[in-house]
Amino acid sequence: MATDTILLVDESADARAWLMENARSSGDYAWIEAGSLSEARTRLKAQLPQLLIIAAQLGGQEDGWQLMSEYALSVPVIITTTHRSADEISAALAAGVRDVLVKPFEPERLTLAITRALRLAKTQRERDALREHVARQTQEFSALYTVGKTISNLLNIDEILTLVVWAAVNLTGAEQGSLMLHDPVTGELYLRAQFNLSAKTAQKLRVKVNDTLIGRIVQSGRPIMLSGNDLVKVQTSLLVKAILGVPLIVGDKVIGALTVDNQLSPRIFGKHDVHLLVTLADSAAIAIENARLFASAERERAKLETILREMQDLVIVTDENLHVLLINAAAGQALQLDEAVIGRPLSQVVEVQQLVDLFEQRHTEEYVWRADITLPDGRVLQGQLSSLPGVGYGAVLRDITRLKELDRIKSEFVSIVSHDLRTPLTAIRGYVSLLPRVGPLNEQQQDFVARVERSMDSIVDLIADLLDIGKIEAGMDWEMTAVPLHIVVRESVERLRPNAEMNQQTLSVNVPELSPVMGNLRRLEQVAANLIGNAIKYTPARGCINVSLHEDDGFLVLQVSDTGIGISLEDQRHIFDKFYRVESEATEKISGTGLGLSIVRAIIKKHSGRVWVHSELGKGSTFTVLLPRYREEKKFDK
Ligand code: ADP
Repeated sequence: MATDTILLVDESADARAWLMENARSSGDYAWIEAGSLSEARTRLKAQLPQLLIIAAQLGGQEDGWQLMSEYALSVPVIITTTHRSADEISAALAAGVRDVLVKPFEPERLTLAITRALRLAKTQRERDALREHVARQTQEFSALYTVGKTISNLLNIDEILTLVVWAAVNLTGAEQGSLMLHDPVTGELYLRAQFNLSAKTAQKLRVKVNDTLIGRIVQSGRPIMLSGNDLVKVQTSLLVKAILGVPLIVGDKVIGALTVDNQLSPRIFGKHDVHLLVTLADSAAIAIENARLFASAERERAKLETILREMQDLVIVTDENLHVLLINAAAGQALQLDEAVIGRPLSQVVEVQQLVDLFEQRHTEEYVWRADITLPDGRVLQGQLSSLPGVGYGAVLRDITRLKELDRIKSEFVSIVSHDLRTPLTAIRGYVSLLPRVGPLNEQQQDFVARVERSMDSIVDLIADLLDIGKIEAGMDWEMTAVPLHIVVRESVERLRPNAEMNQQTLSVNVPELSPVMGNLRRLEQVAANLIGNAIKYTPARGCINVSLHEDDGFLVLQVSDTGIGISLEDQRHIFDKFYRVESEATEKISGTGLGLSIVRAIIKKHSGRVWVHSELGKGSTFTVLLPRYREEKKFDK
């Protein structure tokens, strides 16, 4: 432990000697003596002692008091005096003197005064050091906290990195600092942020990794702390007296280094500085990685935005509760919506009810959610809704106005042609049937007439079907009443039974009396006749056909099953399309128009029902029709 130094100021050499002699018992001190005020001042300038013992009567003018008042605040002072005035003593204590010894005093009194003053001074020194240490730690903590907080709030990477270097320089008490990043393409380190570097140094800071001191940090992935002779040994061209650098690490890759140095002051860095710099380097590495991720996410977002913006199709995305999340430019324009609708419920901002209904389909168990939507300007869009896991729902709407128009023109054309063909065909049919009556026909002629009549029947059937489908789609002749479906089905079966018998097929029926459906009688008859007719047509001789009807959960369920030729999965997708006929050896000799099932589907759709098929090639098919049961509106008597 270092010995405490005591400066003893007294004109009398004897008094000084007595004091030193008698103070010895309280401890081993280094004594400095001064016999006059000026000598005392010189000594004090050279070195501040741990204790000052001053004789009040110096130079006959009480100069001791003067000296005491100059130093009492920086060094503990004990005054020795011959006066006994209480005023004087209390004034001295008020000025900061630790003790006043009135001569003559006992040696015990002296040693007590010295030990007490020194102990007090020591406690004070320790307290000051502790306070300084706590203040410094608080400052470091608050600087690190500020850096951390700012980093998570700032997205501007330049600002973040400059802040990190600034904090590094300030917290380590360095003169300047830099943050260099590794360019994997050129293998060089380039300056990314700096604090206090001269413009000249900053300009030329682009160096190869393997020939610099900072490069060594990147290569080794470990901190470097050098000063004095160490720097000479590594032969660096950096003009510094002390340097400290730590690596910036992202994952397991070193991406650069954070460095602070002193060019002028010889102050060296310590372990604590390494710790501070590593903490800051970690923050910088996180910020750089975040900025990289952000930039790449931003690029992807910009790409998506361009695609959405330039897309001709309308795109609308909502959250799970149908609050608008996104509308692209095409949708905004077509539906006259702007950014203000974001976050609002779709049903409140979109005026086209069909579009709202499309989103409402999300509760149905349909395989795909689709709808044709007519805009106020007359355009027709085909919309498809999809569920977007984690987001909500997205609808894409494509303009099909032109396709619809073409479809309409085609239907109109078909209907006009069919209509115009019907009159001459009736005439041809009439004349052909008259042929046997106007003279005897030989066998060959009879055969030819029969063939002409069969072909005529096919053409007439086709025309009837074409006109029918046109009318159904146009919603013509559509009178709806409560229809007892069980009667319709039973009658259809009986009408077609002769055909089944001709084929020696078993036609079983399981049709109990049930509640009616709301529908069009003639069209429902058509549905039953088409399905039962097909079952008979596409089932080989001696096969079985079963027709059943039952009620289930508010719906009437009609099922027509057969043990016929069956339909492949691929064909099942198309058989409800207009003019689609399965082409196979089994169907080769069976005549038909390919319109029967499309008529069935159109009729069922108009009745808000559904129709589908289950079939296995070579084993048979089951067609199922679902129609909502008729509900009579309840009337209440008052
Ligand atoms: P078609 O006038 O040809 O019978 P449909 O529209 O009624 O026209 O039927 C379309 C096609 O579906 C038929 O050509 C046939 O290949 C197939 N099909 C319909 N019903 C059955 C069935 N019960 N069994 C096997 N195939 C069938």
